[in-house]
Amino acid sequence: MDTLSAPSPTGPPNFYGLSRGLLADRLAGQGLPPYRADQIFSWVYQKHRRSPDGMTNLPTALRERLEALCELRLPEVATVLGTRDALTHKFVLGLADGARVESVAMRTEKRLTFCVSSQVGCALKCTFCATGLMGLQRNLTAAEIVAQVVAMGDFHGWQDDRFNLVFMGMGEPLANYQPMMEAIRILHDPLGIHLGARRVTVSTSGIVPQIRRLAGEGLPLGLAVSLHATTDALRDRLVPLNRRWPLAELLAAARDYGRRTGRRVTLEYTLLAGVNDRDEDAVRLGAIARDLPSKINLIPYNPVPGLQWQRPTPESVDAFAKRLWPMAPAVTVRHTQGGEIWAACGQLGGLA
Ligand code: SF4
Repeated sequence: MDTLSAPSPTGPPNFYGLSRGLLADRLAGQGLPPYRADQIFSWVYQKHRRSPDGMTNLPTALRERLEALCELRLPEVATVLGTRDALTHKFVLGLADGARVESVAMRTEKRLTFCVSSQVGCALKCTFCATGLMGLQRNLTAAEIVAQVVAMGDFHGWQDDRFNLVFMGMGEPLANYQPMMEAIRILHDPLGIHLGARRVTVSTSGIVPQIRRLAGEGLPLGLAVSLHATTDALRDRLVPLNRRWPLAELLAAARDYGRRTGRRVTLEYTLLAGVNDRDEDAVRLGAIARDLPSKINLIPYNPVPGLQWQRPTPESVDAFAKRLWPMAPAVTVRHTQGGEIWAACGQLGGLA
């Protein structure tokens, strides 16, 4: 048995992991027409009904049988932690097997962004990341990924239908490829949430074959590459996956991804004081960014207890960004949100 997969359910499949096509297939087995799947999708994802009660255009017999065909249960929201400014909330969901998964909703003036997890823990052990310290417990199912979005949307009252979704929570999404793609396609369904592909960003530490596979999906998803270093020697230390797929291979795959999807790739660069924030790092990073359609996102390191790294001072973050600006096509410095509730980048992993 693959111990990294979610435990197989003994009952009916969970609704949130079913595409509309799969739901229609299940209903067809009961002699029901495909438009019933359209109606159920619309009730759940557009009118936000969480039980068959009140799905008034379904026959009573179907309403009564629906939960036997697909379970509508969402994971329990075990904890919601909010920052003092109420702009960031961290959600801890309790899954059916007792595993816990963390997700973060961040609001700015311009947009609402949901950051979801793809795995419980992570096997890749990037040396600055709290999730990496946990090791990998298991992959999430498509239903568990979709459920994180639904839980955060329910909490925010679905006021902002045009939210962004980033796979930057716990885990390496491209190491759980199939469930991640199933979840994206469910969320993208026009009769469901209808989340535009351009609003979804998949962040990877650099699983090169899966970047190439993602480029062939026919969806213009955003791709973020967790770069963090501009030499193989340093990246081998910070992101051990680099020993398998070094920078040249990773950047070639990222370049192809940008070419095939028409999207600029985001280069995520966590700034670690005295490690990768020197002048020569900025020069190399600028050269990398110029060589592919990209934008750079600088992330001042968010401290994790027990790890050796330090966050650079605001002055040195500023100096690094200024050094880059003339050399790179687009540079932003991520405004850190959620540090006080251990919800910032690299901090997910039971630290609350
Ligand atoms: S940074 Fe991402 S890939 Fe690396 S250990 Fe953390 S969760 Fe895993």
